[in-house]
Amino acid sequence: MELTELTIKQCHEGLKNKKFSSRDLTLAYLENIKKKDKELHAFLTVTEDLAISQAIRADERIALSRAEGQDFPMLCGIPCAIKDNILVEGQKCTNASKILENYVASYDATCVKKLKEQGVIILGKTNLDEFAFGSSTENSAFGVTKNPHDKTRVAGGSSGGSAAAVAANMACFTLGTDTGCSIRTPASFCGIVGLKPTYGAVSRYGLTASASSLDQMGPMAKNVEDCKIVFKAISGKDKMDATSADYKLEESEVKLKGIKIGVPKEYFGKGLDPEVEKIIRNAIKKAEDQGAEIVEINLSSSEYALACYYIIQTSEASANLARFDGIRYGRSENGKDLLDVYLNSRGVGFGSETKRRIMLGTYSLSSGYYDAYYKKAQEVRGLIRQDFEKAFSPSNDGVDLIFCPVTPFPAFKIGEKMNDPLSMYLADIYTVSVNLAGLPALSLPAGKIGKLPVGLQIIGNQFQENKILSCASELEKIIDKNV
Ligand code: GLN
Repeated sequence: MELTELTIKQCHEGLKNKKFSSRDLTLAYLENIKKKDKELHAFLTVTEDLAISQAIRADERIALSRAEGQDFPMLCGIPCAIKDNILVEGQKCTNASKILENYVASYDATCVKKLKEQGVIILGKTNLDEFAFGSSTENSAFGVTKNPHDKTRVAGGSSGGSAAAVAANMACFTLGTDTGCSIRTPASFCGIVGLKPTYGAVSRYGLTASASSLDQMGPMAKNVEDCKIVFKAISGKDKMDATSADYKLEESEVKLKGIKIGVPKEYFGKGLDPEVEKIIRNAIKKAEDQGAEIVEINLSSSEYALACYYIIQTSEASANLARFDGIRYGRSENGKDLLDVYLNSRGVGFGSETKRRIMLGTYSLSSGYYDAYYKKAQEVRGLIRQDFEKAFSPSNDGVDLIFCPVTPFPAFKIGEKMNDPLSMYLADIYTVSVNLAGLPALSLPAGKIGKLPVGLQIIGNQFQENKILSCASELEKIIDKNV
């Protein structure tokens, strides 16, 4: 087995038993990046020298722990990569946008700080859709990321670089962000595991705000256990983010046997690729074989989820993007007057999807339309949340988990949806409700259509990551993700 194929746990054991050093691991990953990334384009920045010096320091720390007869942190010496909308001090944070092409972060995001405290190696920053707007990474100003399973297809988005990096063994794990789909969709398309945590479980300090009431950071990794390790490392209360929760992952094991799994009728209707449905139904059957009870549930407001999401997302995004004005943040350009400065900075620096979001969001928030769009969408958001509350409610004999597809189809061809934003938005039909309700959800590789991986989405109630991770881990052992 190649070093770059090992999981975090296996790397940790190898480091502990002196089978290899963190430097060996880091060099192996850098070598893979050199070999593969010209074509795949998962990385926007590779910090080779820094990674090697971090690895040397990790090896020293490991040697010291060994000499003292102590264990070292699970992530010490493990090479990872960070999505390029998350700040890493001293590194560029471009958000895949021309407007931030030369922006260098002046501090570490809280989750990066936590990872560094454990002694991780940061190999570089990964590609995304500009400001995380998209589902395919085609909206990156610096070029698309290709799917390692089929290079004519997208890796998913917006954390496409993070997903492809793990899938092609160019990082042991990565951080992604999920506002409406962006950890789960690329995880599903690239055949890796991605966890979108409960809103508030992970501090958003140091994440470029896309839509603040929807955004969450989370782990993307080779298996469920690795996701759990990283989630444990980055979650918890942070005084720099008032929306972060004082929450610690429970560790008790939850078995599929005896739990109740809800299958939402609305997620298996028109538009779902029959081959995807077959894979998802097969995974549900596997859970049933292990002793889970399967029940059909209704999430009746689902049909409004996409419309609701794209009003709230664009409204919040339009407000958040106001700071990139060429004065406070972003490329600063001169002009004869203020309008000229804006045209030269925002006009030139933003790509077309970003401009579309600003226009849609500004419209929804404008005084004449606020009630009809933004306010209405917030009301619908309440209904969507209520659907889930009802489904999970113990007093209502509710379910423990919900199983459904991540996307209606597997990875699509590069360029296929680029001229039709609405069909791109449709890719998010099964994922956005989770963000609107602030719930945790995971994408687990469940099978393949030809070479193309398909993920099963496992949704839990708030702060029930343990239930999701536990059951996903049990299922992972019995599902053949390669057929
Ligand atoms: N596809 C969704 C959007 O474009 C979600 C993106 C995300 O999760 N960052 O808004």
